[in-house]
Amino acid sequence: MQKVLQNLLKLQSVDVRLNDVRARLASYPKRLAEADARLAAARGEVEQSKAAQLATLRDRKKYELDVEQWKGKVRKYKDQTSQIKTNEAYKALQHEVQMAEEEIAKAEDRLLEQMVSSEEYDRRIKTSEKTLREVEESTRGDRAALESERAGVEKELSELDAERARVVAEIPEDMIDHYERIAKKHHGVALAEVRSEACGACGVRIRPHVFQEMRRSGSEELFHCETCTRILYYFEPAATAAVPPADTAAAAAHIREH
Ligand SMILES: [Zn+2]
Repeated sequence: MQKVLQNLLKLQSVDVRLNDVRARLASYPKRLAEADARLAAARGEVEQSKAAQLATLRDRKKYELDVEQWKGKVRKYKDQTSQIKTNEAYKALQHEVQMAEEEIAKAEDRLLEQMVSSEEYDRRIKTSEKTLREVEESTRGDRAALESERAGVEKELSELDAERARVVAEIPEDMIDHYERIAKKHHGVALAEVRSEACGACGVRIRPHVFQEMRRSGSEELFHCETCTRILYYFEPAATAAVPPADTAAAAAHIREH
C-alpha cells in the first residue's frame, strides 16, 4: 500500500478517536448541570416545607388571638348579667354568650387543625433536610467523579492532538486539505475499505479496471468511490500478498469498528 494511503489511514484512526473524545467531553456540562439540578430541587423542598410551617404558625397566632377576644367578650357579657332588668334583655345576652362560645369553639377547631398541620410540616422539614444532606453528599461524589473523568478525557484529547500533529507532519499539505474536505462531508470518515470489490462505506461496486489498478503494486494514484467520493484503500488477502504493516491494519480495524 502506498505510504500516503497508510498515513491517511493513521490520520483517519486518530480522527475517529478524536471525534469520540470530543463528543464525550461535550457531555460533561450537561451531566454536571443535572447534578446541580438535583441539589437545587432538594433545597427547594426544604425551603417549601419551612415556608409552609411559617404560614401555619402565623395562622395559629391569629386563631389564638380570636379565641382570646371571644373569651373576653363572654366575660364581659357575664359581668353584665347582674345589671339585667328584663327577661328579654337576659335572653338577648344569653344569646350573645352562646354565639361567642360557638365562635370560640370554631377558632379552637381551626387552631387544632393548624397544630396538626404544624406537626406534619415539622416531619416534612426533617425528612427534606435529611434528603438534602444525602443529595448534597451524593452530588459532591458525582461531581468529583465527573470532574476526574473529564480530566482523564482532556488528557486523552491532548495526547490525540499531539499524535495527530505527528501524523499530519508526514502527509503533504494539499493531501490533508483533500482528506479534510471529504471527511467533512461524511461525519469525519474520509476513507473506505474496498470489500468484495465494493466501497465498504456506501456499498457501491468498484469498476473492475479501477480495482485492478488499485491492486497493481507501485500504483501511485489515489482512487475514490464514484458515489460517496471517499478515498478507497484495499488490503490484499494475507495468503496471496504482503501483510500490511501492523499499525496500518490496526488503524483500519479501528475505523471498521466505527
Ligand atoms: Zn462509497
